[in-house]
Amino acid sequence: DSVDSQEDPLGQHTWKRVCSLSVALKEWDIPYEELTKEMLEPIGTGRFGTVYKGQWHGDVAIKMLNMDPNTDNAAQLSAFKLEVAMLRKTRHENLVLFMGACMKPPHLGIVTSLCRGSSLYTLLHVRKEKFAMSKSIIIAQQVSQGMGYLHAKGIVHKDLKTKNIFFDKDKVVITDFGLFNVTKLCHANRHADRLQIPPGWLCYLSPEIIKSLLAGAAYASTELPFSQLSDVYAFGTVWYELLNGNWPFERQPPESIIWQVGHGLKPSFGSIKGSKEVKDMLLMCWSYNPEDRPGFSQLLRYMERLPKKPFTRSPSHPIHLLSRSAD
Ligand code: ATP
Repeated sequence: DSVDSQEDPLGQHTWKRVCSLSVALKEWDIPYEELTKEMLEPIGTGRFGTVYKGQWHGDVAIKMLNMDPNTDNAAQLSAFKLEVAMLRKTRHENLVLFMGACMKPPHLGIVTSLCRGSSLYTLLHVRKEKFAMSKSIIIAQQVSQGMGYLHAKGIVHKDLKTKNIFFDKDKVVITDFGLFNVTKLCHANRHADRLQIPPGWLCYLSPEIIKSLLAGAAYASTELPFSQLSDVYAFGTVWYELLNGNWPFERQPPESIIWQVGHGLKPSFGSIKGSKEVKDMLLMCWSYNPEDRPGFSQLLRYMERLPKKPFTRSPSHPIHLLSRSAD
């Protein structure tokens, strides 16, 4: 495990932490060979790797990461171990259960419980299900509970979206938290030295992140300004999808979305059938200034008071002004 600190891209301090972590993480190591004793059944492939259904003391989901052959193995492994160290601390009923990890390159993978049911993405955008307001509120409350817990542990999700929220038998399970840190080192995420922008990703990105994307070539090598408050912005988009059944800025070109979000413009709220309070929650989460966004515990208190039934617009509430205003 010895490495010349001059060449250590993560810095000597981080490297020392990783070395001591390696010992602590041994009990979470699941040898890849143990998983492949039984057939792995591919579930789907995302930006950063492939998820398989496998067997490890019962059904599990195994996310094998595409590692970048051009990135230093030691750096990838260190970033991965730091993430695994974080994942083992997560214990909440609205978060996917972390069970262990394959930690031997080139087979780096995360093993979690297998989520039953469907993702909110499938329910809303593929099956076009419409949720009653009371159901949307229950889902949003459970997402907020899981996210509030992550934030209390100092973990930023960085990729909260309906694809990463499962719903089964009235229970929400959030997946993929923290993995963005590792996956930015993954092969599929690099293209001509720039981060690719997959479809459906932009609408979850807060103005401060959108503006740093605009900074151009430099951003691929530096951290994007993800924070707990950018997670709250992404939660706002999930709330919009729950209310509206589609994405904000749907069918608009990426350049136009980037321009609008970067300038603090909001999508139209015209098709949302909900009370003023329901739309106010969207506006709070989508505040242009991160400091103006509420935390998840504040959102939970707010949601407890939300009217559970949708009612028609009050004429005293000028929707068009709210929906297009810049902060
Ligand atoms: P993206 O690359 O934008 O994140 P994605 O969410 O589809 O897209 P993955 O997270 O790699 O990509 O997931 C691939 C597939 O595996 C998806 O269909 C997802 O719903 C499914 N999946 C991921 N984690 C689990 C899990 N713990 N249990 C069951 N299915 C899962």
